[in-house]
Amino acid sequence: MNKGFFGHPAGLSTLFFTEMWERFSYYGMRAILILFMTATIADKGLGIDPQNAGAIYGLYTAGVYLLTLPGGWLADNILGQRKAIWYGGILIMIGHLILAIPGSPGIFVLGLVFVASGTGLLKPNISSIVGDLYPEGGARRDQGFSIFYMGINLGSFFGQIAVPILATYNWHWGFGAAAIGMFIGLIQFRLTQGSLNDLGLTPKLKEETKEKKGLRKANSSLAGILALALVVFLVILQYTHVIDLTTATGIAQAVGVVIVVITLFYFLYIIVAGGLDPDELKKVLVIFFLFVGAALFWSGFEQAGSSLNLFAQDFTNRMVGTWEMPAGMLQTANSLVIILFAPIVGWIWVKLAAKNLNPNTPIKFGIGIILMGLGFVVMYFAAQIAATGTKVGMGWLWFTFFLHSIGELTLSPVGLSATTKLSPKRYVGQMMGIWFVGASLGNLIAGLFAGGVDVKNPSQMPGLFMSVVIFAFVSGVLFIVFNPILKKWMGNVN
Ligand code: GLN
Repeated sequence: MNKGFFGHPAGLSTLFFTEMWERFSYYGMRAILILFMTATIADKGLGIDPQNAGAIYGLYTAGVYLLTLPGGWLADNILGQRKAIWYGGILIMIGHLILAIPGSPGIFVLGLVFVASGTGLLKPNISSIVGDLYPEGGARRDQGFSIFYMGINLGSFFGQIAVPILATYNWHWGFGAAAIGMFIGLIQFRLTQGSLNDLGLTPKLKEETKEKKGLRKANSSLAGILALALVVFLVILQYTHVIDLTTATGIAQAVGVVIVVITLFYFLYIIVAGGLDPDELKKVLVIFFLFVGAALFWSGFEQAGSSLNLFAQDFTNRMVGTWEMPAGMLQTANSLVIILFAPIVGWIWVKLAAKNLNPNTPIKFGIGIILMGLGFVVMYFAAQIAATGTKVGMGWLWFTFFLHSIGELTLSPVGLSATTKLSPKRYVGQMMGIWFVGASLGNLIAGLFAGGVDVKNPSQMPGLFMSVVIFAFVSGVLFIVFNPILKKWMGNVN
């Protein structure tokens, strides 16, 4: 390899900066998304009611993570990771360009579809190619991923400053800045991709064995039956008026039902027909609980861009001297805390491990979810002040984001690595996919929840935030209580 990057392969630099610019565009745009949708037509927004805007937010962000499944599949089977990253980036850029042109809600949704599809192609494949830089695995690979995670958060930090500031002048300049960010990322990728040598040039699974083909056929019939059953189920829900598929909220609820049912079936299928030995079976069960924990965590955490963004806009005093900080910019707290605290939290685990006290994964999940809940305790009190009609200081949201980010550091990296380690080798790719589905479901719930926040009626807000607290505390404690059992099931993985 040519010149290195912080003592790592030069290819890491290419991936670092591409992902940095991609996240610049993703998080920058996410910081203004719900505000643009709910802004009145007079304010040049879309004038969508908060409930449907929350649902669209949830559908879009859930879509981003859900589409990583076909994105990973396309790269493995047809495109190879390099092309997937390249075309994914182009789709993202086109999406932001569409959003940069003032248009109807229909055009706006089209832009979102482009960004979500592009991210589905780019995100999983850029992460997996990072892993491929270190065929030897081990601590150096972990270090490589930590550096890469810094790139994610640097991009997110600057995106959440540039895009919201530009959007205060004109929403569409904000979206335009996201397009420019992705454009720089693409140019950078094009010019420096030589440093990746031949990594990601050819699809990994080009050749399919006869046996695999047979299995695929059997699986497709099963998937067909499930799809049919789901359609029937949704039609029943529609006709019994449980959900209304003519509204964005109804569609988001339906997508939630679909994600949950498919995931449950997937686990059931692996357990019944996956040829697991008793050891593997227990580990797969643990992955299931980690999936539930991740979905729970993200459903609170991802409200940063939905309900908490609305709170920042309508109920937070954002004056710094004579300048009013744009609401979306408050979200920079997350990336800042990750950049500053990731090394500290990593150091704490190492120190504890030296004393044999490093908590194992289920405990870390419990702590992460409880920290998310604590963030909403802060919001519960902030919302009580807001309900009296006084705007609160920015410190409330900063503190909430601080707690949520420490929670992210406690839960997210260990979740992903435990999932890969617990998974039977032949299912690793799919189980990684399940991890993204957890994030997807969490995002969807975060959007639906925001739909319940009525900015015109702030008195119901404390109650809503308290419901998150109770949910988080109960589930966090359950993880800690059931740790001994889960730990036993995890066997040699900690
Ligand atoms: N902030 C991280 C990223 O963008 C993780 C997000 C997630 O998994 N929900 O990659």
